[in-house]
Amino acid sequence: MTRLLLRNFREVPDVALSASGIRIRSADGREVIDGSGGAAVACLGHAHPAVLEAIRRQIEKVCYVHTGFYVGEPVEALAEHLVGHEPGGLTHAYFVSSGSEGVETAIKLARQYALETGQPQREHVIGRRQSYHGNTLGALGAGGNLVRRPPYAPILPQASSHVSPCYPYREQRAGEDDAAYVKRLADELEAEFQRIGPNRVMAFIAEPVVGATLGCQAALPGYFKAVREICDRHGALLILDEVMCGLGRTGTLHAWEQEGVAPDIQVIAKGLGGGYQPIGGILAAGRVVEAIRAGSGIHRHGHTYAAHPVACAAALAVQQVIHEENLVEQVAIRGRQLETALKRRLGQHPNVGDIRGRGLFWAMELVEDRETKTPFAPELGMNGRVKLATYARGLACYPVGGTIDGVRGDHVLLAPPYITTEDEIETIADLMA
Ligand code: PMP
Repeated sequence: MTRLLLRNFREVPDVALSASGIRIRSADGREVIDGSGGAAVACLGHAHPAVLEAIRRQIEKVCYVHTGFYVGEPVEALAEHLVGHEPGGLTHAYFVSSGSEGVETAIKLARQYALETGQPQREHVIGRRQSYHGNTLGALGAGGNLVRRPPYAPILPQASSHVSPCYPYREQRAGEDDAAYVKRLADELEAEFQRIGPNRVMAFIAEPVVGATLGCQAALPGYFKAVREICDRHGALLILDEVMCGLGRTGTLHAWEQEGVAPDIQVIAKGLGGGYQPIGGILAAGRVVEAIRAGSGIHRHGHTYAAHPVACAAALAVQQVIHEENLVEQVAIRGRQLETALKRRLGQHPNVGDIRGRGLFWAMELVEDRETKTPFAPELGMNGRVKLATYARGLACYPVGGTIDGVRGDHVLLAPPYITTEDEIETIADLMA
């Protein structure tokens, strides 16, 4: 019997004994390809020597200092590295320990920005339905995740609401062209601003490529330009959550680069530290930082482990390897290969409704009937079955659900490490098929 209070503690997961490259070995002697990098985390795979060395060196120097007294050496260097490779005018970084803490930071920064610019009435966050921005109460409130929210709904922050995501596979109407669909979504967002009162909205939050909840769903061209225009017109900040899709995962360093729209605040996590240490954070635009600098900073914000020196040393090493080894370009190349490989093997499968993604970030939406897009009955837990079946054959993929009405629907996600070779991509597609 396990003493661990795991998410699903009826099922004891395998014990991982060791991992290197893209493979994980468990206590029962099995070796499995980490086809999803956990939950799109392990971007450099496991046991990368440069990262292990950076962690070892930092542990020997300084493990922990509190930001009220010091910052560790690698913290400033990590901030420099991130904003130095940043094309969108994001000038400052703030580090915490997870994606959820990053989202909380972004929301509090947006509120502080409203206060410091003399707009105390701005207290509302607009998010999107079927979105996930983290499991802490503020992040859960900003997200529109109908699976995770219900038991906590009464205690979530009330100052949030949700509009439709851009989800062409299911929500673009027959005969509606892309521009008309984007216009319909923009009109809905504009109407939501009007419903709340445009000068009461402090921020709109969205993922450029929706990971877990919609299965690697990128927005249609023009969608984020329209969103940016609406936010600017009403003086609301644009928060882009790149926790899952950021830092190279989609074939550009930031996913928003492919939309041509930079955010005011960007949330980063998973691929930042590649899983070597818990780390998340935000990048913020100069004008936001300048406004709060004039005042008090993010009011009493901070966590004990914010800007943890070892976490920042690990993340700096991860980001340097990505940069020095041109791994973002590699992701774009391997990503096109993975797309072709998946579509060739599964594109006509009667139970694969859609295969979508960008870079090394791909998902399949599983359906009972490809023609009618009918989902499998939820009690079948089809994505979980696919996970177990591929795991038995040597591939770990990431099952996520709730793509149809936010509750029903299955998909499985692949997010292999950026170092995955050409042959390994074919093996992953073979195992998946
Ligand atoms: N935002 C997005 C888009 C995510 O995918 C996740 C995690 N899956 C989070 C936020 C929360 O990150 P964490 O689990 O590190 O708190």
